[in-house]
Amino acid sequence: MKIRHHLSDQLLMAYSVGQLPEAFNLVVATHVSMCDECRARLASFDAVGGALIEEIDEIAMGEAALEAALARIDGLPQATRTEPLKTAGIFPAPLADYVGGDLSAVRWRRIGGGVKQAILPTGRSATARLLYIPAGVAVPDHGHRGMELTLVLQGAFADENDRFDRGDIEIADEEVEHTPVALAGEDCICLAATDAPLRFRGLVPRLAQPLFRI
Ligand SMILES: [Zn+2]
Repeated sequence: MKIRHHLSDQLLMAYSVGQLPEAFNLVVATHVSMCDECRARLASFDAVGGALIEEIDEIAMGEAALEAALARIDGLPQATRTEPLKTAGIFPAPLADYVGGDLSAVRWRRIGGGVKQAILPTGRSATARLLYIPAGVAVPDHGHRGMELTLVLQGAFADENDRFDRGDIEIADEEVEHTPVALAGEDCICLAATDAPLRFRGLVPRLAQPLFRI
């Protein structure tokens, strides 16, 4: 099915310059791995960052820096084989790495109404979780504090405004009031990231400033 709900330019830009909290990084990387369109847009932001780096005045490093780096590379064990790509079931590679396998590796906790969640280990400035919502069930306790990203991995959900299928990402903030319901037919599994209010809101303008100055 074609992906209809994509990442915003702001999120792709913040991801490109490496300034997103880890939980958001994970959601962005997972969507990008599923979505040709966002992967292409991300490449254009990466190119802007590369151009910026080219323009920056050089700062000399210590005299022995190059030698020390090369010596350390020599000291590393040789890779004897390439790791198998961990794409596992419904989990694209970036997410499979976090979970450590496929769905069977997830340690779910029930949160009521048949809904289960599993918090993923990320830095504490934002939280990433897997959500399991049985077909036909509404998502409980859904106030938005700060920004929330929700990426569908299996099944689909709908709210008053739209429908989200596998690969679709919903970007919600405090303004959004809705009641997402998992559609009938298949249990819905999502990857969601939330942050503290204001933290993210302040971040994007700060990032955009140096980028737009050129
Ligand atoms: Zn996309």
